[in-house]
Amino acid sequence: MDCTTARAFIDRLWDDEVIPNLVDYIRIPNKSPAFDPDWQAHGHMERAVAQFSAWARAKTAAIAGASVEVVRLDGRTPVIFIDIPGAGSETVLLYGHLDKQPEMAGWAEGLGPWIPALKDGKLYGRGGADDGYAMFGALAAILALKAQGVAHARCAILIEACEESGSYDLPFYVDYLAARLGSPSLVVCLDSGCANYEQLWLTTSLRGMIGGTLTVKVLEEGVHSGDASGIVASSFRILRTLISRIEDEATGEILPQAFAAQIPPGRIEEAKIAAQALGAEVYSKFPFVAGMKPMKDDPAELILNRTWRPALSTTGLEGAPRLQDAGNVLRPATAAKLSLRLPPTVDADAAGDALKALLEAEPPYGAQVTFELEKAGSGWNAPPLADWLRASVDKASKAAFGRGAAMMGEGGSIPFMGMLGEKYPKAQFVITGVLGPHSNAHGPNEFLHIATGKGVTLAVAQVLADHYAWGR
Ligand SMILES: [Zn+2]
Repeated sequence: MDCTTARAFIDRLWDDEVIPNLVDYIRIPNKSPAFDPDWQAHGHMERAVAQFSAWARAKTAAIAGASVEVVRLDGRTPVIFIDIPGAGSETVLLYGHLDKQPEMAGWAEGLGPWIPALKDGKLYGRGGADDGYAMFGALAAILALKAQGVAHARCAILIEACEESGSYDLPFYVDYLAARLGSPSLVVCLDSGCANYEQLWLTTSLRGMIGGTLTVKVLEEGVHSGDASGIVASSFRILRTLISRIEDEATGEILPQAFAAQIPPGRIEEAKIAAQALGAEVYSKFPFVAGMKPMKDDPAELILNRTWRPALSTTGLEGAPRLQDAGNVLRPATAAKLSLRLPPTVDADAAGDALKALLEAEPPYGAQVTFELEKAGSGWNAPPLADWLRASVDKASKAAFGRGAAMMGEGGSIPFMGMLGEKYPKAQFVITGVLGPHSNAHGPNEFLHIATGKGVTLAVAQVLADHYAWGR
């Protein structure tokens, strides 16, 4: 592949078509079904699917044997399946999604989740980076190869619409499309992060997650706190006690062995190398308030904390009035939504059972304590990189960014990857993405770093070319 020609092709396609398409797409509030239970009636998902598939059809119309299909299983979110024939007998699976996270508060003036805004090389708005660009980037990479007659293997592009809800529809599509998907020897996932915008980052592991609602009930109704406090235990204090069974409240360390994993030595080594490349960037990307410090000083330890150690977040609270409405009342109940991230190799179902048992055992004062487990998804630890792919991603990163590739685990989850790892144990994985510092997927002011989107596209083209050369 001639990189200069490919870069010029990709830059032009992005500027002329990809960015204008993403601008339109950002305007569509196609929230994932978990955040829009009436998604079918609202029709936003349909608009996004129509827009994406129309572009894919237009761009593949001239490719002999190529097909773009919107696959619909009854009652499920749709999937876009693009099949592009190639040379040789191998298959590459390229993955992304088009459903979005909900709005979130805190968008800066002039910005908003459904308001596309181009500023300083960034496209602001919900879903551009997570993960609207994926289909466009994957297709642009293939088209860049076609434009200069470089061979690639057959490419199957799968774009789902349920990722932000935990991909619960996807296994059905993977089964339904099994024969057409074949057995890919390379999986390219464009829904992950990068630790900076200066090189290609490969995600080598993902954490799992279990989440649910912990409810503590102490009274049938609220009573005067002056009357009851000292006799009736506070539901908030009991909740705190229960959480301390899991977490050391002084350090944040997760205590039970059920949630811990042995960190492979290679991953510790990798974290040290990434820490050297990043230094303070490991934590400075977060919008700390003045005076606030990260949980540890050593960047390598912080990377391991974020990628290979369990950690608890309390993502929702209920049972308390707004501050302005709070009288002197001993409240009847407190509930918290708990999200426990798990090391990549911990079984999430077993961890979920352990969490429920720990929280519900011997409730203090005989309070009514329930933990309702709502989700459990295991993480994923990538198989070792094959030599050809290690060389390829490094070459691709240098061509696209002028610097070699780097590797690191991610703290988040992509449920599909665990599923694919099990289904295709021999496949190699390139899991990468544009979610770098401040890009803030899921939060306010999400942006797509356009130069990185173009760079990742070029890198994918290089990897596809090298994959064909390997498999020939
Ligand atoms: Zn995503």
